[in-house]
Amino acid sequence: MEGARFDVVIVGGGPAGLTAANVLGEAGATVLVVEKYPEIGEPVRTSGGTWIRDMAEHGIPADLYHTFRRIRLVTAGSEATFEHREARACVLDVRRAYQYLASRSVRAGASVRTGTTVQGLSIRKGRPSGAVLRHASGRTEHVRAEVVVDASGYAASASRRFGVPIGPRLYGLGLEEELEAPAYDQDEAVLFLGRQFAPDGYAWAFPCGRGRVRVGVGMPLPRSGSSPAELLQRLRSESAHLREALAGARRVEVHRGIVPFSQPRDPLVWHGLVRVGDAAGQVSALAGEGIRLAMDAGTMAARAITGALEDGGPGSARLREYERSWRRSQGRELRAAYRVHRRMLGRSDADWERLGRALRPLAAGQVDRLLRSRYSSVWLMGVLMRSPRIIPVAIGLLRPRPPSTRPERSASA
Ligand SMILES: Cc1cc2nc3c(=O)[nH]c(=O)nc-3n(C[C@H](O)[C@H](O)[C@H](O)COP(=O)(O)OP(=O)(O)OC[C@H]3O[C@@H](n4cnc5c(N)ncnc54)[C@H](O)[C@@H]3O)c2cc1C
Repeated sequence: MEGARFDVVIVGGGPAGLTAANVLGEAGATVLVVEKYPEIGEPVRTSGGTWIRDMAEHGIPADLYHTFRRIRLVTAGSEATFEHREARACVLDVRRAYQYLASRSVRAGASVRTGTTVQGLSIRKGRPSGAVLRHASGRTEHVRAEVVVDASGYAASASRRFGVPIGPRLYGLGLEEELEAPAYDQDEAVLFLGRQFAPDGYAWAFPCGRGRVRVGVGMPLPRSGSSPAELLQRLRSESAHLREALAGARRVEVHRGIVPFSQPRDPLVWHGLVRVGDAAGQVSALAGEGIRLAMDAGTMAARAITGALEDGGPGSARLREYERSWRRSQGRELRAAYRVHRRMLGRSDADWERLGRALRPLAAGQVDRLLRSRYSSVWLMGVLMRSPRIIPVAIGLLRPRPPSTRPERSASA
């Protein structure tokens, strides 16, 4: 069946898809973004913690995020704080930020259709040639496109339907409460590391402005032992730090979601299908961070698609420029994050405490790079000079463990 025709159809209206739509629209391409939920940014499925510089580079106005200067690292028996003079990190007002991304892409000429699900892809000569949409009314519609972009998040639904070879993935489950907490210090985020807080994951408290804080736990699937809700409850009641900071707090929202972790090996361009964001596993396994990475990938993918469209279509070699530039700029960072994450699984609270103490002497900028997995020899030298005791701790933590103590292989979500 013939339907409307676009240069590009994007499956998913999250940060990856909406950023790609804006860049493509500005370049003059006709673009359709299809989002299955009735509203962009709703429900919220992320904490929104990210970096000011990256948001500024992506043109996100400063009134759409709350900035903070200090990170406190808490393990079972140690605490360390890392403070910048000027804030470097921020927490997005997720709904408004994602809606901003949507209206910006509409201003650039893209169409955004919400409450509509991509049910399947149409295939022509072995390439996606469009999508089958299912509207909330139950009506189906076929749209045609030169290029289809899978920005559908952790489930990677378009990629899986098209048979893209996706390697094993680990999945993390996150549960978070947004609280009105008048006593919480809006200049400080807290990361809680160790089994007592979140086995093989971590717990957090992110200030998000207007007297609010997001307190959450993230852990791998499949999970055993305490549920995320139980861990969250325990964190609030047993952490001396939070008990005080959350005095008089009131829950206003609950957020939950799934995040994928994988080696950055899967193809990003597969027979004309382009993959971005969580759908392509572009998440830091160490920090569970993916928003800026999704936006970066959306931008790179959109530039390569623009080049390919100018060069005759999805068959053009210019499409592959996305895969090359992404691997050059971010593949290394995510590979490092994944390896470190795998080695940290199954560690004891004593291991986390040793790590916490070894990190204490570091400068705030060095910790930023650690969280972003931006490791270089200059960074390492600086870290060793400030904290020589990190050497035995790191060797101990990164040494492979006997197979019996290794965590289970991946779960599917
Ligand atoms: C609890 C939690 C906390 C997190 N905290 C942080 C954090 O603090 N900082 C950070 O940087 N990252 C964080 N992340 C990760 C971050 O949220 C993701 O990496 C980011 O959202 C990826 O963006 P995306 O556009 O690729 O995917 P998504 O944001 O998941 O967007 C995909 C969109 O596609 C839509 N969709 C899916 N299938 C279809 C279909 N068939 N048809 C139409 N639409 C479809 C979905 O509804 C969704 O809106 C967190 C994740 C979780 C789960």
